[in-house]
Amino acid sequence: MNEEKIWLSSPHMGGGEQKFVKEAFDTNWVAPLGPNVNGFEQDLANYIGENSEVACLASGTAALHLALILAGITRNDEVICQSMTFSASANPIIYQGATPIFVDSELDTWNMCPKVLEEAIKDRLAKGKKPKAIIVVHLYGMPAKMDEIITIAKKHDITLIEDAAEALGSTYKGQKCGTLGDFGILSFNGNKIITTSGGGALVCKNVEDKKKAIFLATQARDEAPHYQHSHIGYNYRMSNITAGIGRGQIEVLDKHIGYRRDNNKFYQDLFKDVDGVEVLIEPNSDCFSNHWLSSIIIDDVKTGFSREDLRLSLLEDNIESRPLWKPMHLQPVFKDCDYYGGKVSENLFNDGLCLPSGSNLSDQNRERIKESILKLL
Ligand SMILES: *Cc1c(COP(=O)(O)O)cnc(C)c1O
Repeated sequence: MNEEKIWLSSPHMGGGEQKFVKEAFDTNWVAPLGPNVNGFEQDLANYIGENSEVACLASGTAALHLALILAGITRNDEVICQSMTFSASANPIIYQGATPIFVDSELDTWNMCPKVLEEAIKDRLAKGKKPKAIIVVHLYGMPAKMDEIITIAKKHDITLIEDAAEALGSTYKGQKCGTLGDFGILSFNGNKIITTSGGGALVCKNVEDKKKAIFLATQARDEAPHYQHSHIGYNYRMSNITAGIGRGQIEVLDKHIGYRRDNNKFYQDLFKDVDGVEVLIEPNSDCFSNHWLSSIIIDDVKTGFSREDLRLSLLEDNIESRPLWKPMHLQPVFKDCDYYGGKVSENLFNDGLCLPSGSNLSDQNRERIKESILKLL
């Protein structure tokens, strides 16, 4: 293995980042506040639109935690969460001492199934407990069926939190993901569509919520000359250094989404005549995906190889791929949680693989991926 590793999704700098970071050093704003934090918040608000108020934070996980706090989630409350997701969607429910209730996916977008969601809510109501929030995820950048999910949330008067950690730049009916629910969260971790090395943001509908989020994220300091506290606070604010990276990254976001979408087309072409391999694509024109990760489902009866065969075969050629996220209701840590639905997400996990999808994949990289896959085909 002397060829360079091809990663699933690695950082891709645009070139403008260091200018903002240097500015922070030159002006001594080396702190968890400053012009880059304010500037990045403004850039994000301008980008996602819809009168969004954005608070930049230390991570997407922190943003989800604060969304739950602002939604009033406390001990023993129930929160419905998409099962097919990354664990960070569900962990903050536990931080609040609340109880996650997991819901299965549908096959068009791989996200929360509206029918199962409604079933789950009705059953919880029948059991005498009303869920207080819903966390819906746009997995791999693919928008969930938001019209149906918003209608259900409104009908039952339940706060809707959109985990758009993987979906910055994706749109549903022309509206940016992260702005469709009562709260939205974004992530700028190292492998996400843009990165600040680590970071996240909470998207609010009004400036009061943004102010509350920043108050909680900066140790909940009351106004006083001394340190005065009437709430428990958190140290969740974004650094002015990392925000500088974000300001440079957002300049190239749309270009990088274009590259990720090109990757998706590349895989569609590669597999178009292969019986038993399906690429996740936009189910209709309501959905525009940033195609953060391009993913496939393998029917091993038709192909003669499993997703694990393909994963290991790629690995031999120093190419990283990863099984689809293992659903939360199958995770040891959540094994005692209630779950609604069937085996859609479980089957996706068993048969699905995420393929290299970085915006920095070169033509030579794609050629290597193609050759490696063709070996098995
Ligand atoms: C990455 C991710 C998060 C967490 O974001 P961090 O910034 O890494 O804390 C949450 N939800 C999903 C779906 C993610 O992919």
